[in-house]
Amino acid sequence: MKQACHTWIALRALGLIQDDPKTQDLAQILVPWAKHSYIGCWLPDMQKFKKGHGIIGNHTFKNAPYNGDNKSRFVVPKQKLLDALDPNLALHGYISSNSTLDASWWKQPYKAEQKDGEHLPDCLSSLFDTIADLLLLGDPELDALVPGSTGYGDYLDPTCTLTKAQVSTFFFIMSHYIADCFMPCHADKRRLAAFETDGVHEGWEKHWEKLIGADFKKTALKSTPATSEQVVAKAKELDTTLGLTFITPLTWPDNDNDIWETAIFWCRASFAFSCNIFPIGKYPYDSQAQPLFNEHFSDTAKLSEYDRIVLQSAVYAVASTWKQIWRKFKE
Ligand SMILES: [Zn+2]
Repeated sequence: MKQACHTWIALRALGLIQDDPKTQDLAQILVPWAKHSYIGCWLPDMQKFKKGHGIIGNHTFKNAPYNGDNKSRFVVPKQKLLDALDPNLALHGYISSNSTLDASWWKQPYKAEQKDGEHLPDCLSSLFDTIADLLLLGDPELDALVPGSTGYGDYLDPTCTLTKAQVSTFFFIMSHYIADCFMPCHADKRRLAAFETDGVHEGWEKHWEKLIGADFKKTALKSTPATSEQVVAKAKELDTTLGLTFITPLTWPDNDNDIWETAIFWCRASFAFSCNIFPIGKYPYDSQAQPLFNEHFSDTAKLSEYDRIVLQSAVYAVASTWKQIWRKFKE
């Protein structure tokens, strides 16, 4: 995904945080900074950020058939995947009702071989805990919104505390990696999913950028006279154009599922989605074919349906993960 798309996803997720009665204080932390902290949405793709959480392999989790000795560990039956996914994700609905993958696909073990230290679910797990730490070091204004007292306030030098603005930027950074889990090409190791000019990966991201529109480009947000609240409201307007529906209060499939495991399942579901869009029969795992975006997605109704599934799922997952961090502080 490109900058405007990543930005819109996080801003739309903020709207869900606003609409959930359980995250009102979190909305007070994040919403006022929306038009300032949005930079966090796309920073992970910047060259300099590749020295931090943005290292290359943290944006993808490229599944492929696994032939090692530990096969049973890497098989995820369809029902298990559906049980692990939040039913409020459009991707859940697609896999349960529209997927045409046969029994042999579901019986096959798949694994993402990531470089050492580069792993999308690891990255999310790290940010999840980092953000909780940041919330525990708030200045009086931030601390007043985080439930519970810390017990070390007297020892916390004001110059060592963090502001709502600083913490907000980290929430936005996290949204980038969650959204990346839902880009089907990020979850599929086949050659077709590589990022090549006019290929399905590059072409699809360009298409989303057009769909999201100029309002969410960094140049527009930098100079807009709109307030942060108005920018978040504007992000909600795209629901109608894109055919998106969301349910609040935000849910999490199973409270025992941590973000690491959940992200593994998101990427497995995105891989299943990719194998539907680009069937294995036509593009076997070792195929070097590279379909062009314009040719592959010539059916615009189908494309809109795929867009809806990816974008709805990315927004919902961002918002529900933010809420999941917030739940740690529940009294
Ligand atoms: Zn990325």
